[in-house]
Amino acid sequence: MRAIFILCCLAVLPAHAAWHEREAAIMGTRVHVDLWLEDFEAAAALLDAAMIEMHRVDAAFSPYKPSSELSQLNLRAAATWVPVSDELFELLGKARQVSVWSGGAFDITYASVGRYYDFRKGKVPDAQERAAVEAIDYRHVELDASRRAVRFAHPQTYIDLGGIAKGHAVDRVAAILIAGGVEHGSVSAGGDSRIIGDRRGKPWHIGVQDPRQDGVMVAILPLEDTAVSTSGDYERFFEADGVRYHHIIDPGTGDSARGAMGVTVLGADATLTDALSTTLFVLGVEAGLALANRLDGIDAIIIDAEGRMHLSDDLADLKGR
Ligand code: ADP
Ligand code: MG
Repeated sequence: MRAIFILCCLAVLPAHAAWHEREAAIMGTRVHVDLWLEDFEAAAALLDAAMIEMHRVDAAFSPYKPSSELSQLNLRAAATWVPVSDELFELLGKARQVSVWSGGAFDITYASVGRYYDFRKGKVPDAQERAAVEAIDYRHVELDASRRAVRFAHPQTYIDLGGIAKGHAVDRVAAILIAGGVEHGSVSAGGDSRIIGDRRGKPWHIGVQDPRQDGVMVAILPLEDTAVSTSGDYERFFEADGVRYHHIIDPGTGDSARGAMGVTVLGADATLTDALSTTLFVLGVEAGLALANRLDGIDAIIIDAEGRMHLSDDLADLKGR
């Protein structure tokens, strides 16, 4: 009897229906993909494709790889118009859009000075390096759509896509999974995640980390079909004479931004939430929440410099209910 019962169950259950996941260290961070799929082999192929795509985006946009398209652009664009790929041109366009929305709080040319920080070695830019602050201005990155070419208007301008590239990679991988038939899954690269569907009848849960207590969560968000990004001053930093130097730079000064400790942004796509989490960190509570409230479909949680939590209007309404 028992044997027959088990056989019946096997006949009803799809062969390998299960969660499949993979993790790797790519783009200087932890990349994680989790998906539900009935076909075991198809799931393995999608996980392979996901990791290959992450490596491809890293190889194209890493500032640390001299062969990357980004490094080549940095090398040449102050001297001449440089033709770039559709993908890079589009990403530069999105970065510019966020710069315009934020009055330059998000600015990929921050790296004109930002490149001289070394958070592992505890190095800040010296006076001469800091003088490149005048090369920071997103309008120095000229985009010619007709030729799909880029030029820098200032000789010392240098760009870095660290504030938007991980979100872009996450969106690219999510698109691959969705095209492969995934209806329930999640993709994350460090603090940038994209959630596909729900967790089969339950929401996914994403924690908002306490910026000063490792592993402690100040909020747990139940989410479906959303992108979410977190920026914090605890990711890459060092302290000298009681001052915390970290990797989110105020483009106005070339110094680390000090208006917040942590920012989480929710929205439809990770490219945007990634850029906006960095943006709101630079803007601080008042201007940051004002921008989140102004943008359709964007919500934000900002933990200010004193550790207090602030919510954008829609989240505050949800919490009040
Ligand atoms: P993480 O890289 O830890 O996920 P963020 O998404 O907050 O964190 O992005 C921080 C990165 O963004 C920095 O490492 C740097 O590459 C880049 N960045 C820093 N300041 C700015 C800025 N004002 N505008 C655009 N990009 C920035
Ligand atoms: Mg970000």
